[in-house]
Amino acid sequence: MKTKIPLHSKILIGLALGVAWGFISAWQGWPPSFTSNYIEPFGTIFVRLLKMIALPLVLASLIVGVSSLSDVKKLSRMGGKTIFIYLATTVLAITIGLVIGNLIRPGETLPQKTRDQLMATFGENTSKALEGAESLKDISPLQPLVDMVPDNIVSAASNNTAMLQVVLFAVLAGVALISIPREKAAPVIAFFDGLNELTIKLVDFIMVIAPIGVFALMGSLIVDIAGDDPGSAFELLAALFWYSLTVVSGLAIMVFVVYPILLRLFTKLPVGRYFRAIRPVQLLAFSTSSSNATLPLTMERCEKNMGASEEVCSFVLPLGATVNMDGTSLYQGVAALFIAQALNIPLDFTDQLMIVLTATLASIGSAGVPGAGLVMLVIVLESIGVPTSGIALILAVDRILDMCRTVVNVTGDTMVCAIIAQSENALHPPAEVD
Ligand code: ASP
Repeated sequence: MKTKIPLHSKILIGLALGVAWGFISAWQGWPPSFTSNYIEPFGTIFVRLLKMIALPLVLASLIVGVSSLSDVKKLSRMGGKTIFIYLATTVLAITIGLVIGNLIRPGETLPQKTRDQLMATFGENTSKALEGAESLKDISPLQPLVDMVPDNIVSAASNNTAMLQVVLFAVLAGVALISIPREKAAPVIAFFDGLNELTIKLVDFIMVIAPIGVFALMGSLIVDIAGDDPGSAFELLAALFWYSLTVVSGLAIMVFVVYPILLRLFTKLPVGRYFRAIRPVQLLAFSTSSSNATLPLTMERCEKNMGASEEVCSFVLPLGATVNMDGTSLYQGVAALFIAQALNIPLDFTDQLMIVLTATLASIGSAGVPGAGLVMLVIVLESIGVPTSGIALILAVDRILDMCRTVVNVTGDTMVCAIIAQSENALHPPAEVD
């Protein structure tokens, strides 16, 4: 008899083998080019496959999701609730980040010598990050709102980082479909419904190679960080230990304290069962560092394993993957504090309120792709007068923290999905959860 290994175990095995590969290859001095030429491509293929379906999935599921909310009243009720919880949890996340950041004060633990060294080492990379962010300088903090509106839907839909614009179009199109005669709307909805089913089936196909993809992603990441001197990776990680610890503690509080409390308060879903349902989603978010790439699996697990209705999932989750980033906003709060502390710039209460405002907008504006949060951090730093070149200080650990904050980003989406589903009487967990 064929025993079925659950998806999360397969991903976990891939992840562990990838880490092992990375360390062994660095310690044995195997040429990094082997990993980058023959292993990394499989990780890239896996992520590309996931990204390939992200856009049609967002477009189709949101159009179907919105238009199936039979009337505009139901849409505004569910939309209002969803956006309110998304915003509230984002503000809560930043506040938690700021409180821990003020308690631990990670920036003040960094010796001057290390700071200079990091600045010098990463100055080059920072200028790359800053180049990407150049357009964000000297602009209104409301620019993310302007950027939400596409001026050409075809070009927005051809660019994975313009997902927010596609979301806006899809929501408007969904509302329009409710408002036109049913017989005109039906074929359009049927088309997008079919497209939606098709992309979800593709997820099953792509997940077959998930363990290999995750193995390759982790293996090449470790080899990259370690270079040919594994010690250097450890040194840098140790120097930034307190900063990372602050971010990770904040993220852990969100996942293990805040979300379970909210789930208990607002749903009948047992917390253990919830975590079992979304475990593979968290592992995939960790391995890909991308909410967008994780979205197809998030939708599948929330519907099949958590038991939220298709109607709720297809509205709440694509929206969440794009605009709700509790992990990113928490990280931006801590990072801004850390950089200010490290550069000896005092931040008063008003500055910290400014961080709450700008990090909320910046996290909404961050695309669900790796490293997006780092680029948008520039907006936060600009608003409180902290030199953006300070980003150099945190660059070394950003990739790892990106993986962790992405886990929180997607966990937040699934938690809100459960709450909305419960409030709409559309949460019916299946008997078995693998
Ligand atoms: N990688 C994150 C995500 O996709 C965004 C970020 O960089 O914070 O959710």
